[in-house]
Amino acid sequence: MHFETKVLHTGNEIDPNTGAASVPIYQASTFHQFSIDQPGPYDYARSGNPTRHALEQAIATLEEGTHGFAFASGMAAISTVLFLFSQGDHLLVSQDVYGGTYRVLSEVLPRLGITTDFVDTADVEKVKAAIQHRTRGLLIETPSNPLLKVSPLPELIDLAKQHQILTIVDNTFLTPYLQRPLSLDADIVVHSATKFIAGHSDVVAGLVVTANEELGERIGFLQNALGSILGVQDCWLVMRGLKTLQTRLKVSSETAGKLAEWLSQQREVKSVYYTGLSSHPGHQQQLRQADGHGAVLSFDLGSGNRVRELLSRVRLPIVAVSLGAVESILSYPALMSHAAMPAEVREQHGITDGLLRLSVGLEHFEDLRDDLKQAMEVSNTIQVGQ
Ligand SMILES: *Cc1c(COP(=O)(O)O)cnc(C)c1O
Repeated sequence: MHFETKVLHTGNEIDPNTGAASVPIYQASTFHQFSIDQPGPYDYARSGNPTRHALEQAIATLEEGTHGFAFASGMAAISTVLFLFSQGDHLLVSQDVYGGTYRVLSEVLPRLGITTDFVDTADVEKVKAAIQHRTRGLLIETPSNPLLKVSPLPELIDLAKQHQILTIVDNTFLTPYLQRPLSLDADIVVHSATKFIAGHSDVVAGLVVTANEELGERIGFLQNALGSILGVQDCWLVMRGLKTLQTRLKVSSETAGKLAEWLSQQREVKSVYYTGLSSHPGHQQQLRQADGHGAVLSFDLGSGNRVRELLSRVRLPIVAVSLGAVESILSYPALMSHAAMPAEVREQHGITDGLLRLSVGLEHFEDLRDDLKQAMEVSNTIQVGQ
């Protein structure tokens, strides 16, 4: 089946008991056992609930994995997966990984004796050189945030397999519509479903999908043991969002492509980062491992002052952290996602004071373009007048 069909027919479309056209919210924490000797499929809702189960089945199908799991946030999902590791284990993680993931890896796990080296996963040789005899996990985010660097998934997964290293891919930016790491032999996919999967800036959620039974059992055990499950109301909202994932992401990606082209022709813009541009260093690799370029792009205005001007005049995108919603979202990495990073380190990584990240929503291209244009023109006039 094609993705657009599958996204609607994954087992989350009809209530098996009543035929209701959407899975009901089973607002129950515990389940009556009709026979104490033959327990039913559900006993206590931390361990399982039919509404959550429907979502978990849906994401497992879409990511082409064996088991899906829903968590209270993307960070709850990622942290639970990290509990697969033990004292003495060493992890390799993409350098520009999500800030919250960086925080857990650098401030929490070291207390448990699990250490991490952050490497440029776009460069397989650098990853190879960083492997130690205790390296047990490789966590990749591709494309990365906010510079959209592409890490070569097939090569990295192959390298990890040679060293019995578990490969985990954060697939938040592209979703299974555009990239399916398990089909490339990765072991685990994680998501902040807060972003494109739920898609409406109204719910915080996380998802995990495993490539095989054994990992499925281990994550299932950890989900129940640690308990950071997604509540049933939020499961329902994520399923509601998921049904239109393909439609939303298709339109947003097309608009993002047009905006990236347009931005790269503006003299106010120093550089544009979008894997759909043939000038992007990861363009060819992206075409090899994904079905598209997604709806997030970044651009550099050259200075913090020009960013401030633009942000104060732009009318359509909301100015906020987060991404992957029906409305466009403009973020300022220097003061938002990467504020904790020392300025020199930030600049070294290309996250300059002039950099803005745009998550493109469902507005019309021309309206977004005209809005950015008026916001930039004003900032240009001011620049000249100074
Ligand atoms: C937002 C995000 C997370 C964290 O997810 P939450 O739902 O905010 O906990 C993890 N990875 C990426 C790539 C993200 O964008």
